[in-house]
Amino acid sequence: MDTRIGLGYDSHAFQPGVPLRIGGLTLDHPQGLAGHSDGDVLLHAVTDAILGSVAAGDIGSFFPPGDPRWKGADSAVFLNLAMEELQNAGYRLVNVDVTLILAAPKISPIAGDMRARVADLLCVSIDRVSIKAKTPEGLNLDHVAQCQAIALVERVQEPDQLRSMSDVIESQRQLEDVVEDLLSSVHGIPKRRVGSSVYDTDDIT
Ligand SMILES: [Zn+2]
Repeated sequence: MDTRIGLGYDSHAFQPGVPLRIGGLTLDHPQGLAGHSDGDVLLHAVTDAILGSVAAGDIGSFFPPGDPRWKGADSAVFLNLAMEELQNAGYRLVNVDVTLILAAPKISPIAGDMRARVADLLCVSIDRVSIKAKTPEGLNLDHVAQCQAIALVERVQEPDQLRSMSDVIESQRQLEDVVEDLLSSVHGIPKRRVGSSVYDTDDIT
């Protein structure tokens, strides 16, 4: 199996007066995350992990922060683009694992809803999305939300590719049969039994 992994990291400072968006959900909290877009720290980290897995750059290279088009944008747009890049590179997502680091609000009561939402955005089943949260103990970072994400992806085998591969194997088998027939008729070398090992294992003790 041809697999690759990607790592993503993001951080945003809390700011009063804006809605708090994390994992594609709007959370009930007095402060939101400051940012050019909706500041969804989790979706940004996952976007970078997916782009990174196929070496397709990062969120900033596709969506420059100064671009007015992305002012207040729903970060699902970024994630969709990353999934397109992944598909174009011939890969699909296996799973993502995410760690949020923030003092408040508590994530565990809504982690299930968040996983379901992120799985929906990624078009994968919920068991392929893990979301964990920690508090930034002793780091003096209570005013910031950070997120780390890692994504495993695997190459998608096109049905055409599979067919041509089995054709090659089949023609190789036929060629071997012809060679063995020739050998047995010319030199009297007995044909190998189908399915028997190439190596003689009888004398191994
Ligand atoms: Zn961000």
